[in-house]
Amino acid sequence: MKHQARKRFGQNFLQDAQLIERIVQCVAPQAGQALVEIGPGLGAITLPLLEQTNALEVVEIDRDLIAKLERRELQGLTIHSTDALSIDWGEFAKGRQLRIVGNLPYNIGTPLLIKLLESHQHIQDIHVMLQKEVVDRLIATVGNRSYGRLSVLMQSCFDIDALMSVPPEAFDPAPKVQSAVVKLTPKKDALDVQRTTALSQVTRIAFANKRKTLRNNFKNKLTEQQLEANGINPQARAETLDLAQFLVLSNLLSL
Ligand code: SAM
Repeated sequence: MKHQARKRFGQNFLQDAQLIERIVQCVAPQAGQALVEIGPGLGAITLPLLEQTNALEVVEIDRDLIAKLERRELQGLTIHSTDALSIDWGEFAKGRQLRIVGNLPYNIGTPLLIKLLESHQHIQDIHVMLQKEVVDRLIATVGNRSYGRLSVLMQSCFDIDALMSVPPEAFDPAPKVQSAVVKLTPKKDALDVQRTTALSQVTRIAFANKRKTLRNNFKNKLTEQQLEANGINPQARAETLDLAQFLVLSNLLSL
């Protein structure tokens, strides 16, 4: 029976064979790697991935889709029937370095990336399809209008490459927005958990009110003198600070 796509699970199934092949080529899975697909759906990426490797774990929330996958009895496939947002990735990894792949449902893209950020030490790399607008924010640098908290946080721990743009017609049903595939690789000098948490707090405060100056957003937390003494203009706005300057702020606040 044909599966009726569920909006609440962000179901837009890939139907462009060439595009699927390009994604699988970018991932280039090899036997022995800890490959995990988020949201296998009807298996558009799952099956070609499985052809290239001997083991694949998938995480799917929709029980109907899980039942369909189970019926296929695919060799090497392990199915986790759960919400990807509820996963403790450190526990899931069990000492392995995960390679995460997924055509992500639009409603969980950003929160999932934030969770993966906190677990970057358990990750080898991430290849995900997201709304193009989110990818723009991930790769934006100072001066770009998409630059913001997500850019700073993700770039503190990952090297990020936008791999390809994907038009709505590549999916069934077609979404209303453009999509893009992005690769994230943990940086060698990625922040540890404590410093990531500090940076998360500092960027939350700095971007709390984008129109306000840093002096105003950090009122009662940092003095104008403290900011100036560390080379940060109190009259500046958060969007003008680069990662290095946010790290300075982060150190100041956690002193
Ligand atoms: N990989 C398939 C493809 O490319 O055709 C399906 C992609 S579809 C955009 C997103 C998939 O993620 C759906 O199968 C959906 O049921 C699943 N999903 C949605 N929310 C989820 C969640 N919180 N945890 C795990 N899977 C989820």
